[in-house]
Amino acid sequence: MHAEPITRGLRKAAQRPGLYEVSHLKDHWEAMTAELKPPMSHQDAFLEAYRCLLCGGPLTPAPCMLACPASVDVPSFIGAISIGEPSEAAEIILNANPLGGTCARVCPTEELCEGSCVLNSTHQRPVDIARLQRYAMDHAFNEGNLLVPLRPAQNGKRVAVIGAGPAGLTGAFELAVMGYKVSLFDARPSTGGLVRSAIAPYRQLSEPLNQETARLWELGVEFRLGTTVDDNMRQELEASYDAILVAVGMGKDASTGLEGDHLEGVFSSLPFIETIKSAELPNVKNKVAVIGAGNTAMDVAREAVRLGAKEVTVLYRRSQDEMPAFAIEFEEAIEEGVQFAWLTNPVKYHGDGRINAIQCSKMTLGEKDPSGRRRPVPIEGSEFLLEIDTVIEAIGQVPRNEFLSGIPDIELESGLIKVDPDTGATRNPLYFAAGDALNGGATVVEAVRMAKVAASGINAKLSEQSNVQ
Ligand SMILES: Cc1cc2nc3c(=O)[nH]c(=O)nc-3n(C[C@H](O)[C@H](O)[C@H](O)COP(=O)(O)OP(=O)(O)OC[C@H]3O[C@@H](n4cnc5c(N)ncnc54)[C@H](O)[C@@H]3O)c2cc1C
Ligand code: SF4
Repeated sequence: MHAEPITRGLRKAAQRPGLYEVSHLKDHWEAMTAELKPPMSHQDAFLEAYRCLLCGGPLTPAPCMLACPASVDVPSFIGAISIGEPSEAAEIILNANPLGGTCARVCPTEELCEGSCVLNSTHQRPVDIARLQRYAMDHAFNEGNLLVPLRPAQNGKRVAVIGAGPAGLTGAFELAVMGYKVSLFDARPSTGGLVRSAIAPYRQLSEPLNQETARLWELGVEFRLGTTVDDNMRQELEASYDAILVAVGMGKDASTGLEGDHLEGVFSSLPFIETIKSAELPNVKNKVAVIGAGNTAMDVAREAVRLGAKEVTVLYRRSQDEMPAFAIEFEEAIEEGVQFAWLTNPVKYHGDGRINAIQCSKMTLGEKDPSGRRRPVPIEGSEFLLEIDTVIEAIGQVPRNEFLSGIPDIELESGLIKVDPDTGATRNPLYFAAGDALNGGATVVEAVRMAKVAASGINAKLSEQSNVQ
């Protein structure tokens, strides 16, 4: 029964050369891990690279490069592919973005580089920048070439990085390249943060995180994985490091707190996805409701389709106009058979052991709230029961207040760290910060950008101190 929505969902992809053969999708796991941006053959990469107009120049960067938060020199790396030099292309990518292989798979390129490609204005499809980037990175990594820069002379300064997600990995890499002795701490036993645990498996299961991490090993970064930095440890770090980069991301899922949320079949988005990524498939039964309409909600809805649910409905208390998900994520969810109930708010979960219905209220939109979006207001007497056997709550993550509020003098706004946007510096001169802990959750490439800014900020600060001494 599940094959129908999956087939529909992948039809568009299957029509593109070199992508999915729908008939190969034998089971849920295969459907779950069928990559949206799969590898390219040499020939396809060569032909695609030739479509690029190699726009821009030294004084006028190409629009695709301007749209890349990590400032990857897109025309230069595509030019290298077009002359048969994929390793050179990979080096250009990695110079700007140490997570170049991950970003090739997970970046919302339709909103960024590919969305800005000049070919869009001539009614042609944009250059497939993401898959060309993947081609170059796969070429280097598959050949065992990690393209590690030469180990620099150590400058005698030590930096602690807390969190080994995209922001922490990038910050640690950049600082190591500048000659700092870097120690990288993470509570989890492996690197990658949400990329490893939460990003949809059909974008990236885990590789090439291991190769990207290995580049840091090669540069001499000390890894302290499986180590939660608590208040005591933080104070020890303050005494022994010259700077601390906080890259702790956001915490667990926010909860609706609705009556009945203890029932079997009610999931929170992060453990739901992490279970899938560990190859254990949650039992979603037939009728799934997803609460929320952000990018995570689109992901869990599409995962539920791949798990074999017969009906997947996203419930959102505002209208489509206020939906926070990217347009492309919404369109692809629709194509895969996901349905949307706008202006619909869950009020209570019903069930006996397992959830069997959600009591919902219809909403209307009132005045604008502080976020600038119109406030949803319940319509009196509009409550109704929706038969459902699975719910996945995907309404965002909460900040890591407990840890962050212990750091002296750093400024928090609604639990998010405030920094100088040009340096990543907090109000405490020892601390810098980057990643989701600043913006509440955005993209990997945005975390990369912020970590590059913070690494430069740390370098400027510590170099200035050295000059004064
Ligand atoms: C479901 C979901 C899907 C997503 N899909 C995409 C996508 O397709 N594309 C995209 O670009 N972005 C996506 N994102 C967003 C992206 O994953 C994040 O923006 C990015 O991972 C942020 O990086 P970060 O390093 O700031 O935080 P994180 O990735 O959260 O990493 C923070 C790390 O800090 C560690 N840590 C926290 N506290 C401590 C402590 N006290 N001591 C030690 N370690 C600590 C954590 O264990 C974690 O490893 C998605 C996010 C979610 C939730
Ligand atoms: S904007 Fe498009 S055509 Fe121009 S350099 Fe970038 S990818 Fe190539």
